[in-house]
Amino acid sequence: MVIFKILIFVALIIAFWFIPIKYGIKWAKIKNISNLWMLFGIHPFMGWIAYLVIKHGVEPRKTCTQCQEGIKLKAKICRYCRNEMSQEEINQTINEFEERKK
Ligand SMILES: [Zn+2]
Repeated sequence: MVIFKILIFVALIIAFWFIPIKYGIKWAKIKNISNLWMLFGIHPFMGWIAYLVIKHGVEPRKTCTQCQEGIKLKAKICRYCRNEMSQEEINQTINEFEERKK
């Protein structure tokens, strides 16, 4: 019954490491936030939590065109360099975010 044990082991790896880390990294990219969050996924119970936090608990980000820092998607003024963004630019970043979600 060694094969049975191996199958269970593989299923556990997929369920606790592969799936949450894969989707966590996907959503980190969509939201333009650091996928280092998924390092929590090394722990078998943290992977799904980190995934849910990224998907539901973290606001999407955009990159400031002037200083390249990550700021809130709907921000009008960059909190790092005070760069002002027009409503058009904001709408465009929101549209890009909606596109990435598909
Ligand atoms: Zn900036």
